[in-house]
Order: sequence, then structure tokens, then C-alpha cells
Amino acid sequence: MSGSNVYFENIKPGIRAMPPYNLKEASCRIKLNQNESPFEIPEEVKAEILEFAKGYTFSRYPALLAVPLAERLSKLLRVPKDWVLVGHGSNELIWALIQAILGRGDRVVVPVPAFALFTHYPKVVEAELVEVPAKEDLSYDVERLLSEASNPETRLVLIASPNNPMGAVIALRYMEHLCRATKGLVLLDEAYFQFAKGNALGLLADHSNLILLRTFSKAFHLAGMRVGYLLARPEIAGAVSKAKLPFSVDALAQTAAMAMLERQDWVDEKVGHIVRERERLFRELGKLPGVRPYPSQANFILFRVPDSRRVFDGLLEQGILIRDVSHYPLLANCLRVTVGLEDENSTFLKALRGILLT
Ligand code: PMP
Repeated sequence: MSGSNVYFENIKPGIRAMPPYNLKEASCRIKLNQNESPFEIPEEVKAEILEFAKGYTFSRYPALLAVPLAERLSKLLRVPKDWVLVGHGSNELIWALIQAILGRGDRVVVPVPAFALFTHYPKVVEAELVEVPAKEDLSYDVERLLSEASNPETRLVLIASPNNPMGAVIALRYMEHLCRATKGLVLLDEAYFQFAKGNALGLLADHSNLILLRTFSKAFHLAGMRVGYLLARPEIAGAVSKAKLPFSVDALAQTAAMAMLERQDWVDEKVGHIVRERERLFRELGKLPGVRPYPSQANFILFRVPDSRRVFDGLLEQGILIRDVSHYPLLANCLRVTVGLEDENSTFLKALRGILLT
């Protein structure tokens, strides 16, 4: 198609060359490919959201920049109101942040393998992407990261903890070194922090270049509603808000996020369940012939097999969809499985064992 359209030449060369952000959509009975929660939100919360929808005037815009939700988060997290910026999922905020900071040729440091958007969006704006490969055991190469971050040209560092697709964390003391070492801004994406021990909220006060990013899609069970937020100094949060769409978080999504914030006990219980299942999956994967699982502090596990294509297809034939990440740097023959319900995980393990033994 593109070859026959002369106007296609008007598209930026970087975009023309780039593969699309892709996700294999397949019908399946067990869906373990997107790090979603396997639990639905409580019925009474759903009823509350629907009740709100009934009374809502659909012809009116939602609250600008989701201010009531930002205010609620500010109270809960004890950070000033103007440090909180709510977005249409954390994806929108990553995009807006990159728009606000990076132009053509600007230097951005990203440890890889990384969440796909961390390398995708810098290419869209034609920034200079400096990738820092993980170590052999797929943990962060902190020394190289520090050295690249301390290059005076560095404008931004994009890092996640726990990261995706490995589930590895970076120690808070290294995050502090990183913030001190660079003249750039540091985005720490904490999409999965509730499944790990500790988080970097306490670092915000001492590091004025640190930006924390969080989401309602994982522990808060609201991937379908698209809500995320960032925490940063007001001048930085304000700058990012200029690059984002003003009414991107719809009224229903704001209501759902507020409602789930009031269900912290329910959330904690489900997170506890997922963490216990993650540990069981990790142990069981380690017992399978030829399988190497990597320790994870998120709601998924990365594992290496002798032939990832065969395993992925074999699982899909049985209606089990996981994520093929074998094309990522350093991840040849690696697959990623989201922690599901207990019986889903058992079915997955049994199917995997069957494929490996045939
Ligand atoms: N950051 C990381 C590290 C992720 O893995 C994901 C989801 N896959 C996101 C952000 C996206 O989250 P959201 O649904 O809030 O856009």
C-alpha cells in the first residue's frame, strides 16, 4: 500500500521505518498476556460507577485534568496538589513527558530490555536513544546506567521498577545515585510497585529531577478505564500537562479510580493473592525441564525455554495466551506469563509441562 502512495514520503523517515506497536490478539480461554489483574472489581464498586453514569450529564466535559482525583491522590500520598498530574493511563503521560522534554537529537537513556513505549516514543520524536543492555542475569547494569546518565548531554532517563518484561527492581540507593549523577530528568515508572517491596515515593522530596509514574491498570484493577498519574515538582508536572490532552480522562474513568482508591483493603488482599501465586508459579516453572524463570517482583514472570515459538504456539492451541517477548534485546527464547487465578496458573503449568515433554 505505502509504496503506491507518493504522499507517504511526507511521513517522518523514523516513523516510516518503525514497526507498529503491536499486540497479538487471539481468542483464548485463559488470557495471560497483558499483565492485567485476573479479578474483576467488586460488584458494589461497579454498581457505584454505573449509578454515577446514570446521573451524569453526558453532554458536558469531564473535570479538566481530573482535578478532583488529583486532589484525592495528593491527600492520600501526602504530596502537594500541584505535584500530581493525572492522565489517560500512564501511557499518555509517558508520551506527554517525552513531548515536553525531547526533540530531534536529544539524548535519552533507556536500560533495555524495556517496556516497548520507552524505546518507541523517543523514536517518534527522533531523539537520540541510548540503550543500556541489562547484565547476563537480566538485572540492571547500574554502573553503565550511571555512566550514560552522567553524560552532560543526557536530557532524560526512562526506567521502570519493577521493570517490564523482567520484573526486576532497581535498589532505591541506585535510584538516588542516578538522580544525582545526571543533569537530566529521571522518569521512574512504578506501574507494578504494589507487587514489590518498597517504592520511591520517599525519594521525591530530595531529588528535584525525579518523576514518578503510576497506574490504575495493575494493582487497582482498572486497565479498561485508562487512568494513570505522575508525581513531580510543580514546574515539571505543569510542563508535562501542557503537552497532554486536557480532557483525556473521561468522567467514568475518574469516578472508577476514585472508587477503587476507597477499596484499599480489597486491593491489598488481591495483590497478596497475586504475589503468592507468583511465587508458586516461579517455583513450579523452575522444576520444569529446560525452563529458566527470572525472579520477578511484578504480576508476571519472564521465563526462558529451549524453543519459545513452539511453546507459545502449543499453549495457544490449547487456548492459553501468553506474551512472546523473544524479539526483545537479550531475550531470545523468552516468554512472559501474567499471574492469573490459581486454576488458570495450574492449567498453564500443566499445558507447558505437556509441551516440553513431547
Ligand atoms: N508502564 C509499564 C512498565 C507497563 O508495563 C505498562 C503496561 N503494560 C504501562 C506503563 C502502561 O500502563 P497504563 O495502562 O497505565 O497506560
